[in-house]
Amino acid sequence: MNTFDKLNNRYIFTGTITLSEAMHIGSGEGDEWSDSAFVKSKEKFYIPGSSLRGAFRSTVERIVASLGGYTCLLSKSEEANCITVCQKTQERYKTIVKEGNSDSVLVQWLTEEKRLCKTCRVFGSTHFASKVKIIDLPLIKEQGRKPEGIIRTGICIDRDTETASNTALFSHEVVEEGTQFQFELIAENLEGDDFGILSLGLQELINGNVYIGARSSVGLGKCRLNRDISIQYFDENFPPHTLKEYLADNIMGTPQLGWINEKIKLYLSGLSTVKG
Ligand SMILES: [Zn+2]
Repeated sequence: MNTFDKLNNRYIFTGTITLSEAMHIGSGEGDEWSDSAFVKSKEKFYIPGSSLRGAFRSTVERIVASLGGYTCLLSKSEEANCITVCQKTQERYKTIVKEGNSDSVLVQWLTEEKRLCKTCRVFGSTHFASKVKIIDLPLIKEQGRKPEGIIRTGICIDRDTETASNTALFSHEVVEEGTQFQFELIAENLEGDDFGILSLGLQELINGNVYIGARSSVGLGKCRLNRDISIQYFDENFPPHTLKEYLADNIMGTPQLGWINEKIKLYLSGLSTVKG
């Protein structure tokens, strides 16, 4: 398994996200207009990359689990060996770290016996850095369209119980349906099933099945990645589009159309023989 000491590949996915429903991502603060303002940077609306990454990861976990694969956060406790959830694995890991083993030995150990599940391998855990980064998504200003948020008032809904937790009226700042944001996802050192697992998330985002933000009465935060997504890469396994070429000429490769579906099919065909 690759470690982070080396850069074996980088894949960059860029595109546009369109909100299919109004979205509210609270900044944690109110302002003069509402009790909960939409998150902003220098007065500009944006979707924090971490919010989308969390939603993206949960979407992928649900699918992997539905396909019979092991994903630690959704698997039954007796089979949950992944270091993210298993205390026994965490304790054994500490001992191996104390013995002074190199990073590559640690990574090798983690990959054995499902000590790191495949979704944690892509999206990270407390002991393993994520291979996937989603950059904060700035709002795309469209001509003739007011990008400002609007204020909606509703009853505060508890996210876990989905009941009204507070009968007092609460005002949220929401960004309206149809608003667009710039999407950029960067993945490094992908290998094996990582490609398929990441592609499942991208496909679901394209199909509009990822929800971001507070799922309150103001909107579900359903969004869609436009189909004209651009993919660029360098990969030591696919010359001539290697790191050297990228550095020398600043050129990245572009995979053929249907790359995402091809990676999903490859992942699914592996599942029929080995579960994991
Ligand atoms: Zn895990």
